[in-house]
Amino acid sequence: MDLAIRGKLAIYYDANLKLHFIKDPLVLVEGNSILGIDSFSKLKKDINKHEIIGDENQLLIPGLVNCHTHLAMTLFRGLADDLPLDTWLRKHIWPLEDKLQADDVYVGAKLGAIESLLAGVTTLNSMYWYPSSEAQALEETGLRGMIAAPVITGIAELPDAIEVIEKHHNTVQERLRVSLSLHSPYTVTIPDFQEANKYLKEYNKSQTDKPKILLHTHLAESENEIEQSQRLHKEHDIDFPEVSTPTELLDSTGILSEYLLAAHCIYVNENDIKILEKNKVRVSLNPLSNAKLGNYMPPVPKIITDVSSVGIGTDGPASNNTLDLFDTIRFLALYYKGFHHNPTLIKSQEVFKLATIGGARALNWKGIGTLEPGSLADIITINLKKPHLTPNNFDYSILNHFAYAMKGNDVENVIVDGKIVMRENRLLDVDVDQSIKNVEDATGRLLS
Ligand SMILES: [Zn+2]
Repeated sequence: MDLAIRGKLAIYYDANLKLHFIKDPLVLVEGNSILGIDSFSKLKKDINKHEIIGDENQLLIPGLVNCHTHLAMTLFRGLADDLPLDTWLRKHIWPLEDKLQADDVYVGAKLGAIESLLAGVTTLNSMYWYPSSEAQALEETGLRGMIAAPVITGIAELPDAIEVIEKHHNTVQERLRVSLSLHSPYTVTIPDFQEANKYLKEYNKSQTDKPKILLHTHLAESENEIEQSQRLHKEHDIDFPEVSTPTELLDSTGILSEYLLAAHCIYVNENDIKILEKNKVRVSLNPLSNAKLGNYMPPVPKIITDVSSVGIGTDGPASNNTLDLFDTIRFLALYYKGFHHNPTLIKSQEVFKLATIGGARALNWKGIGTLEPGSLADIITINLKKPHLTPNNFDYSILNHFAYAMKGNDVENVIVDGKIVMRENRLLDVDVDQSIKNVEDATGRLLS
């Protein structure tokens, strides 16, 4: 069924990063793409057999893009908080992950997908184990997303990752993609990075009819990554190059390229940022997770000025502890103003850009993160008739509300790939209560 979506205001960036405001808008959706967007008075003559959705109280924006998460970690939310990253991972998360089964990941990822949709995320990028389980969760909930073909030296090897790519990349009506996910330079050796990168380059050159594959990794998330990397290389009897930062380490391996998506980038100096941009590396910032894990904070004002492809992510729901991207949006818009004593840093339009078209660029996913005609119909509507979103007489005040006042549960309708997934706050085709129960049961089993 084709859709006609009404609202009070539409806001979006186009592919040239021009910001558009359209008052009293109408969006016409045919199949999975946006046919037109303009004022209701101009476009209403084209409404034919369209199903009408939305009303004069709605803000229409592109579906939000969560560039870095570990979806199924809903299973571990709240189990171990207030700890440093290393202790959290090694003492709490990794021992629990040792016991994980494919079914646990499926129920965890499904709840994560539900939580994401309820808060207006229509595309996410997840790095986790049991990719077929995450694929199933995304398919069933109607999300668009990228799952991981995981590689960790000594634990998950490249041939298995290649199988995941062959099975899942560009499937589910092109809503599902796969990234080659090498956890980090301190869990994957340089030769393994290089071997994976060689495969990726060949794949991207030869598979011209498919979207390019990204190499997804954690980069410069904690201070001791260089020392940890050295330890790993000693274990495997591999020469470690003379470098002082994790970015220099990856640069020395030759794997920095436009096909690398680096999550975090906290411990990056000015030279590292130059190296990232020179190599067209894509970046996902996850400031709320960084703050919670006490990992210090990435130099976001510098990164968003100097790096071309930057999006934001929640990180996993056990390290944030929510998949509501609005929390990260608000935190990002506030934190650096206080930190640098400068209220002009990270303006509302900048966080809006990061959460929409910036995310699309970071994931190298054409057609999402915008409402431009011809783009994919991933659209959310937000009900502005709420006390905390009032007044909303001016376009810019609504954009400011997006950065400073909106919450995930203000999202009223969600459309992914031209299909209504949530209507008037209710997810269609998904049993939310059952999904909650499944996670409670799985976590109970893992802890017992
Ligand atoms: Zn992560």
